[in-house]
Amino acid sequence: MGRSKIATGRVLACLAVGASLLSACSEPARVADEATRCALIIVDMQYDFTPGGSLAVEDGDQIVGLINDLQGEFDLVVATQDWHPSDHGSFASNQEGRRPGEVIQLGGVEQVLWPDHSIQGSHGAELLAELDRSRIARIFRKGTDPEIDSYSGFFDNGKRKATGLGNYLKEEGVSEVYVVGLALDYCVKFTALDAQGLGFDTTLIEDASRAVNLSPNDGIDAVQAMKDAGIQVVKGAEVLAARTQNR
Ligand SMILES: [Zn+2]
Repeated sequence: MGRSKIATGRVLACLAVGASLLSACSEPARVADEATRCALIIVDMQYDFTPGGSLAVEDGDQIVGLINDLQGEFDLVVATQDWHPSDHGSFASNQEGRRPGEVIQLGGVEQVLWPDHSIQGSHGAELLAELDRSRIARIFRKGTDPEIDSYSGFFDNGKRKATGLGNYLKEEGVSEVYVVGLALDYCVKFTALDAQGLGFDTTLIEDASRAVNLSPNDGIDAVQAMKDAGIQVVKGAEVLAARTQNR
């Protein structure tokens, strides 16, 4: 309760500050120097991560409507897209005698092996048609290097290369980010952790995300890991209600 109260207060604070600056948080045209610009990061809303896809997340397609509703609350909306070459080392099919779910070393870091997914140019790699793209300013692709995976939208798993998302958000004057999408226990979690690590004030919108849950508690554990890192956790309705209140 305490946490959720704090979290609600924080959403209100962000949006209230925006309102006092003539809605810095709601007017895309506001100049970047107000330091309250809020960005929404939509992680990997792709067919392969939704029911019927090769790495399906249960009910992964059920969050699209909420994500579309939320987009209008932010100054800037960006998306990430998992985008692998077919010889990617994270695919069990590319590792002799290995099966999905097994863990190996790839690029010097631990790597869970996955079924083939998000192959460049395939239908499974496409963003869901239902996702409103009219406000998405840029899409950052990740996982393009076959030698290392990239859960985070900011860096590969060895933190060797940046995707450009961090610099882009800073150039756009963003100080605060909200993260949604798939999957909660991998790409959403690591995107949020990196955002917080880069100094963005970071919030997870919990019900606008779903976990793949290789182990049953992975989603719950991921939320706890984010809270432990100082990331706020809120519900979509709190963001939408806070906005309405400031109108
Ligand atoms: Zn992937």
